[in-house]
Amino acid sequence: MFLRSNIFLVSLFAMAIAGCDAGPERASGANDAGHSAPTASTSKANSQVLEQRPFDNRDDFENARRGLIAQDAELVVDSVNGGEIWNMQDYAFIDSDGENAPSSVNPSLWRQAALNNIHGLFEVREGLYQIRGYDLANMSIIESDTGWILVDPLTAGETASKAFLFAREHLGEKPVRAILFTHSHIDHFGGVQGILQHLSDEEKADLRIIAPAGFEEEATSENIIAGPAMTRRAMYMYGKQLGRGDRGHVGTGLGKGPAFGTFGFATPTDMVSETGTELTVDGVPMVFQIVSGSEAPAEFTFYLPEHKAFCGAELVSRNMHNLYTPRGAKVRDARIWSGFIEEARNLFPEADVYFGSHHWPLWGQDKIQEFLAKQRDTYKFIHDQTVRLMNRGATPRELAENLQLPPALNEDFHNQGYYGTVSHNAKAVYQYYMGWFTANPAQLNPLPESESAKRTVEMMGGAEKVLDQALREFSGAADMDATEGRNTYRWLAELLNHVVFADPDNGDARALLANVYDQLGYQAESGPWRDFYLTGAYELRHGAPKEGLKPAVMREILLHTPVSLFFESMAVRLNAADAEGKSTTIKVTFTDLQQSYLLTLQNSVLHHRLTSDDTPADASLLLTRPMFVDILIGDAGLKELLFSDDIRFEGSKLDLIGFFSMLDKPDGRFNIVTP
Ligand SMILES: [Zn+2]
Repeated sequence: MFLRSNIFLVSLFAMAIAGCDAGPERASGANDAGHSAPTASTSKANSQVLEQRPFDNRDDFENARRGLIAQDAELVVDSVNGGEIWNMQDYAFIDSDGENAPSSVNPSLWRQAALNNIHGLFEVREGLYQIRGYDLANMSIIESDTGWILVDPLTAGETASKAFLFAREHLGEKPVRAILFTHSHIDHFGGVQGILQHLSDEEKADLRIIAPAGFEEEATSENIIAGPAMTRRAMYMYGKQLGRGDRGHVGTGLGKGPAFGTFGFATPTDMVSETGTELTVDGVPMVFQIVSGSEAPAEFTFYLPEHKAFCGAELVSRNMHNLYTPRGAKVRDARIWSGFIEEARNLFPEADVYFGSHHWPLWGQDKIQEFLAKQRDTYKFIHDQTVRLMNRGATPRELAENLQLPPALNEDFHNQGYYGTVSHNAKAVYQYYMGWFTANPAQLNPLPESESAKRTVEMMGGAEKVLDQALREFSGAADMDATEGRNTYRWLAELLNHVVFADPDNGDARALLANVYDQLGYQAESGPWRDFYLTGAYELRHGAPKEGLKPAVMREILLHTPVSLFFESMAVRLNAADAEGKSTTIKVTFTDLQQSYLLTLQNSVLHHRLTSDDTPADASLLLTRPMFVDILIGDAGLKELLFSDDIRFEGSKLDLIGFFSMLDKPDGRFNIVTP
């Protein structure tokens, strides 16, 4: 590694004296995707991590392998639409456990990625199994009196089906009696149709689907309003465009990554709304704890008294979770979250095995109690200390820089920032209480990024001068100690971002900023941070993706979304400039639901309300809910709208067409690292 670093230094030096013309991307031994080699200070930073964490503790590896029944060495899952959505062999390059990580990967993240590589069907306890590594999350399987109970059927129908068939091959074919959705996030229910397709009509008729109260609404609406922005940002967070490799995606910390397959939904038959609720499901007693408002808006954990097993859902996991999820989401309440962990610890003290919706289980009462206590205190520490410093005037950037877990909480692996980080979680606590504004008037009304960038770069003497200096600092950073090197990269990211935003066509600036992002990505302990930086580098080199989100993959879920939410989502697509000065009323009648809604456009705002069939309107549209969903997701266009037998009109067709043409069609490909 030192040899490679030295060559890199020499070439950088040559480049530095040649000025920027050489284009930094050509000098650094880049891989096929353009990702540059780790610098000497990145190597130093990463090797120092080995001293900061107890790498000789092998418990996690033992636990992650314990009870292995079978493993599919060639685990690949194809999409029903063609192409692969899951390939564990792609991660085979992660073949050591941290101490031998390549210098382009933080060894602590590498270790977590190696643990998440351990996949297969496992016996957790007699009658309790897990299938891991078939998707971002786990599916758990409980043996019941006459069949199986499945917990959290993964993200995609394709991966869920593969996992289910693999489990059935090794555990035997028995009817599925119940499915539990522990919470409203798609990686825990989106694959349900992949299971249901294998069940007989009889099984389906008797099937219980058990979920926390509020599940249906939260699960079908979470991403409706802000979906396009969140999906675009999720491409960064999960490194969707990155190759798998030591200069690419290694995992998300929480698991390998979400399977971008076909998402589905099924309506629950049993809703659990109170902590302490006891259900016996096909002979298996279960005690539930409602933890809604912590990691998810609708979530439960449960305890199996006969197995002495506690399913923590995603209330706890073998990493620090996100109080703020960088793909974009409402912030979560750390205080409530920590309180629920303490409640679980007290409710289920006899638990002798913990299993969750992500990662591997933990055995032993004392170990579980200690694990829960440390997870509890991690979130509480971040909450309390952030608020303390905030009340003394610290800003989000200052908080993120200064807050560190105390030694007692910083000696384990399970609460480290592989997914959430202390840094961005501290900012989340600030945001929860204070919002975006630091109270410093300089931040009250600054110029937008490009305008501010142009003026900054101009005042600094122009792009060429800034780049010259930046390149010298970048070269110099390689020789610095780890902290100083990293801080220089952080500063250069901010500086070069100005140059790129002042002039996105400045290829040298883009190339150097990409090299800076590479180094920050290689040093990150958090999977999402690594993927954000490396995706930023990738898009600076290759541009934004050619294809954005395909809302059609959400069709199954949207069919269950409450209708009124669709109108909310239409309202946020109204192009105010096009709507200026217009007013109209449109009646939408759902012939299958026998419901009519009146949409009113005025003041460049769209309102909706439930109405009676005979309410007058400028135009009326009569159609089924599925047809309406197809129009909204773009599966049905204007032609279908005008000529389909499933749609009827009354009043002015022109008014209708005019109305639909005022709705934005976001393609989910907007720029992020360039203006
Ligand atoms: Zn999850």
